Amino acid sequence: MSCPACGSPDSKPHFYRLDMEIRRCEACGMMFQGPGSAARLDRELIENIYREYVGHAQQHLLLNADRLERLARLLGRPLNGLRVLEIGAGNGALGSLLLKAGADYTGIEPLPLCREAAGRLFPELAARLIPEKFQPGQLPPGSFDLILATDTLEHMEDPLLCATALPGLLAPGGKVYLEVPNEALLWFKGRLRIALGMYGRGYPTNPEHLSLFTRRTFGLFLRNAGLKPLALFQDSVWGNPSRIKIAFNGAPPPHILAASWFFRLTRLDLLLQQGVLATLAEPAAR
Ligand SMILES: [Zn+2]
Repeated sequence: MSCPACGSPDSKPHFYRLDMEIRRCEACGMMFQGPGSAARLDRELIENIYREYVGHAQQHLLLNADRLERLARLLGRPLNGLRVLEIGAGNGALGSLLLKAGADYTGIEPLPLCREAAGRLFPELAARLIPEKFQPGQLPPGSFDLILATDTLEHMEDPLLCATALPGLLAPGGKVYLEVPNEALLWFKGRLRIALGMYGRGYPTNPEHLSLFTRRTFGLFLRNAGLKPLALFQDSVWGNPSRIKIAFNGAPPPHILAASWFFRLTRLDLLLQQGVLATLAEPAAR
């Protein structure tokens, strides 16, 4: 399998845990699960993680309300009237808020489990979700002012193919907003997740996270996709109560909540590169 950030065919094993094998690209340092990683094929475990994830609608609404506020600030304008495409609509929380904000929303969500949750939680989205995997050429070129993909690219078989197709889908002046987990210091973060019993069987990361970005490899990935970041920053996971409640299936133990407040006050998690990487980007000049 070629590197999801630069396409190089050369990679070496980097981190093993149970049946998860994470490789590292020899050309650019990008980490990814290769075809030899059996963890990525455990659909039962992966769907269980999704099932827990989509259940926390209230936390997703809080998280996404903050996200939209920040997005409007970054764009320097309110979201009403924008033609928005979301790739990976999940349980529909972001889509429902965008609709409420007056955006013309379209979502792509291939997973039946997520679409079923979205239909139940936010019936107003039913007619706006495309039940397919993202594919270049699936939507008319130049038809969106804003394309969003949060917690999506790391799940894709070929994230570079997807990201490279985004500039063509944007109308003039259109922007892309992307978020992926920051997997820097994976040896540390992975062991911590294992100790906390996250991801079911004790994997260092979500078994469906095929691409594991760091700030450097995410920057490289964006460049290779023909996207120019206008802003590239980290958002807190450990210091965000909504994210912590979602990660611990609604009921984080008291010491985790205390640690979350510690990180919220000190921002030490961001210093340790343990946040979510977020970017607002536009097509690079050709
Ligand atoms: Zn690479």
